[in-house]
Amino acid sequence: MHCIALDIVRHFTRRKRAVYLDHNATTPTSKKVNWVMNRSLKNYFGNPSSVYRAARQSAEQIEMARQEVANAIHAKPTEIVFTGCATESNNTILKSLSDCFFPGKSKIVSSPVEHPSIIETLKYLEKKGILVEYCPVDHYGRVDPLEAEKLIDDNTFLVCCMLANNELGTIQDIAALSAIAKKHGALMMSDCVQALGKIPIDVESLGLDYASFSAHKLYGPKGVGALYIKEGSPFKPWMMGGHQEEGRRAGTESIHNILGFGAACSEIGNLLLREPKISRLTKNLLGELHRSFPECLVLTPAEGSLTNTVSIRFPGISNTSLMALLSYHGIAVSGGSACSMPENKASHVLLATGLSEQEARETLRISFGKGNSPADVRYTLKIFHSFLKKGMPVVDLISSELLDEQLLFDPQTFILDIRTPSQRKRYPGLPNSVEASYFALDHQLEKLPMNKNILVVCQRGNLSYLSAFHLKSKGFRHVSSLSTGIEEWISMHPGVYQKYAGKNIRQL
Ligand code: PLP
Repeated sequence: MHCIALDIVRHFTRRKRAVYLDHNATTPTSKKVNWVMNRSLKNYFGNPSSVYRAARQSAEQIEMARQEVANAIHAKPTEIVFTGCATESNNTILKSLSDCFFPGKSKIVSSPVEHPSIIETLKYLEKKGILVEYCPVDHYGRVDPLEAEKLIDDNTFLVCCMLANNELGTIQDIAALSAIAKKHGALMMSDCVQALGKIPIDVESLGLDYASFSAHKLYGPKGVGALYIKEGSPFKPWMMGGHQEEGRRAGTESIHNILGFGAACSEIGNLLLREPKISRLTKNLLGELHRSFPECLVLTPAEGSLTNTVSIRFPGISNTSLMALLSYHGIAVSGGSACSMPENKASHVLLATGLSEQEARETLRISFGKGNSPADVRYTLKIFHSFLKKGMPVVDLISSELLDEQLLFDPQTFILDIRTPSQRKRYPGLPNSVEASYFALDHQLEKLPMNKNILVVCQRGNLSYLSAFHLKSKGFRHVSSLSTGIEEWISMHPGVYQKYAGKNIRQL
């Protein structure tokens, strides 16, 4: 009885603790942003393109927000174009400039540690005939401007390099790269998404012609980004069908999001003042981690990096299991960029720094923000220490090869499908599987069999690992996860899947 009572107390105290250490993925909106956005939704509904009073009010508010964003990066308001997100900003610059210059000039020089919104767009442009050259980086993900210069020639119309890396925190020498680009008649663009709000940005002294930004990395809303286009720089709109943003980005403006972005930018001064506090948190965490795990390796450079970001490798321990452990205890960290998480791939950034696939999969990214406190660091360290002392539950991984017809129909196998309803619609589930929501699982534990082998499946193998870990921690002894997810399993067993897909499925 006593044990059950203790378990209940533990359960509820654990639930209350939530430590968010993934601010490079996104940030919660600030109070001011919430206030400004609520006010905007109430008061500024007029379409800024119309002529009557309500419309002019909206238009005026947008111009005030534009001024705030421009102030934050030392630009002119006319140089700011609002977009739907930084992914759109990055796509727009790369595609627009390729349109402007190709085939007269055909080369873009970039780095292999860029965000997927750059890398994937460059791959697309390569298929259209653009020549893309990637400057190698050192083990901190740093581009050496002199090495980059070897790749820049008269055929180069654009040099594209991010200001601060989202996974490593490494800050690039953009001013030096810009100067080299100019020397060779090339334009310079920089993805400044992770830098805004963490370090001061002056687009002029950085020598930028184009830059991209996103509100949700600095306590603004999701769904709004900005594009800096230096006055007089070549540009062809990518979004067409409207005169908005001076004809540079068609589509009715997302007024509340834009005003939220402006409000977030107005708070940058305060954010920068908090950097020393955030830096202390990062240093404390690292110092203690080093003491307890002398073998852990910090991949973020001590100098020339964002003070909130730490990329750290734990040799021999998979980051998925560490993320599962921390997530079980309410701590949010990530294994790489948020955009690549659902794909369950090793980070392309870490691979570019020379890490092997396995080493990349042993690396965690921790990113602090303004809401974190020393108590958060103490709690996180406590969880790490408990793992050191007691180890952590081991989840068996079942590969796609291992999950054959025999295992699929083994009466001892209980297949738990935690995919979302839309994923299940696309691919009906494995035969005899039981569907449950990832979130509701905790309230339905008594419906799961203690005496069977629970095999958790999801789309790509990462969420199933987290759920399997959770069940193991809750005392289920035989739990495994389909390591590559259902998508890959289907591609490996198309015949078996077609024969049995969707048969005898029930809800938990
Ligand atoms: N660039 C970098 C460096 C990022 O970290 C991100 C977001 O993770 C993006 C671009 C994309 O931003 P958004 O979410 O606004 O599309």
